[in-house]
Amino acid sequence: MRHRIAVVGSGPAGLTFARVLHRHGYPVAVLERDPAPDARPPGGTLDLQEGLGQLALDKAGLLAEFQALSRPEGQAMRILDADGTVLRDWRPRPDDRANPEIDRGQLRDLLLGPLDVQWGRGVTQVVPGTRDGALVHFADGRQETFDLVVGADGAWSRIRPAVSSVTPHYTGVTLFETSLDDVDTRHPDLARLVGDGSVAVYGVNRALVAQRNSGGHVKVYAQFRAPLDWHTNLDLADVEAVRSSLLALFDGWAAPVLDLLRHATAFVHRPLYVLPVSHTWTHVLGVTLLGDAAHLMPPLGAGANLAMLEGAELAESIATGPGDLDETVRAFEEQMWARAGRWAKITTAGLERLVSPDPAEALALFDQVQPS
Ligand SMILES: Cc1cc2nc3c(=O)[nH]c(=O)nc-3n(C[C@H](O)[C@H](O)[C@H](O)COP(=O)(O)OP(=O)(O)OC[C@H]3O[C@@H](n4cnc5c(N)ncnc54)[C@H](O)[C@@H]3O)c2cc1C
Repeated sequence: MRHRIAVVGSGPAGLTFARVLHRHGYPVAVLERDPAPDARPPGGTLDLQEGLGQLALDKAGLLAEFQALSRPEGQAMRILDADGTVLRDWRPRPDDRANPEIDRGQLRDLLLGPLDVQWGRGVTQVVPGTRDGALVHFADGRQETFDLVVGADGAWSRIRPAVSSVTPHYTGVTLFETSLDDVDTRHPDLARLVGDGSVAVYGVNRALVAQRNSGGHVKVYAQFRAPLDWHTNLDLADVEAVRSSLLALFDGWAAPVLDLLRHATAFVHRPLYVLPVSHTWTHVLGVTLLGDAAHLMPPLGAGANLAMLEGAELAESIATGPGDLDETVRAFEEQMWARAGRWAKITTAGLERLVSPDPAEALALFDQVQPS
């Protein structure tokens, strides 16, 4: 029997869920708030791990296309001291496919493929347990019912309140994101500093990370510990004022490292929020969550990977399982909670060590996780 299924959100979780259902010929409504796929800049690069994001793409029948698009050389990682001394310079072997990078926009287009996303359909609320199923309320006042509504609508999920009263809390770490274009031509010194992959510089309660995307684009992330209201006297829309604040925060760091901030043309403010490490809920008939909506964690290379694998696994078990939709969702939730809980612990501890009073902690963490 074919159930009426909707997924809210067309991020990595929602699109992978929909794409795997589509592969099995199973219909799904994809409801996305953005008016078009390119309504917002897609964001930086993602590394997709072999047993997580890549496994999800395999389930979607997209692994070969991913391998053709992705950048294995992007796994390279260089670590510097605040004074510019190179502490580690790790490069992957040519055949290393453990964690290749892909631009978010490329991944989105790969997953979108033949999917018929309903753009501009912001959901405000879902009410489970109505006579005809779970009732979805849209921002334009319309309503629709489904047998299952999957909330894949990210950190500030509008679906989450149907299953859980928990909301994200601030980690104590704030991030500013910026980018540089055409680095090989316009900023060759910075292109060399970043290399094929990433460069990370760790100081006391501060870090600067720059990551190469495709097409000579570099994303830069300045992270530091601060109270949530640290910027009360700063106009976040004033690029020069933000730059001065950041340069003051990273005062004394090596000039080539600070050039990553000096050449930036815009800054996006992202205080880092998380859900509690082991976020679970009492199962609710007709509604579930995937990805950041279920387990928002520090951005340390796991969130999109988990989101995609969860999407693929839930879709596969709905399309190929024995048929009791509610039992399928219950079993999926147990599996998701266990795995996400493990990763939330790892990434929470990781953030503590990467933006820490003792920069040696970051290096020790790198040595622990990086293959030699
Ligand atoms: C700086 C940074 C770097 C990161 N790097 C990595 C990395 O290298 N590897 C990794 O695995 N993870 C990384 N992450 C984490 C990763 O971005 C997230 O975990 C991932 O995007 C979660 O996917 P998602 O589909 O659950 O949610 P999202 O990507 O947030 O997608 C949610 C979608 O839902 C839509 N939506 C929201 N509200 C509504 C609504 N009310 N109605 C309809 N649609 C709605 C949104 O428009 C969006 O399209 C990083 C995060 C950050 C901030």
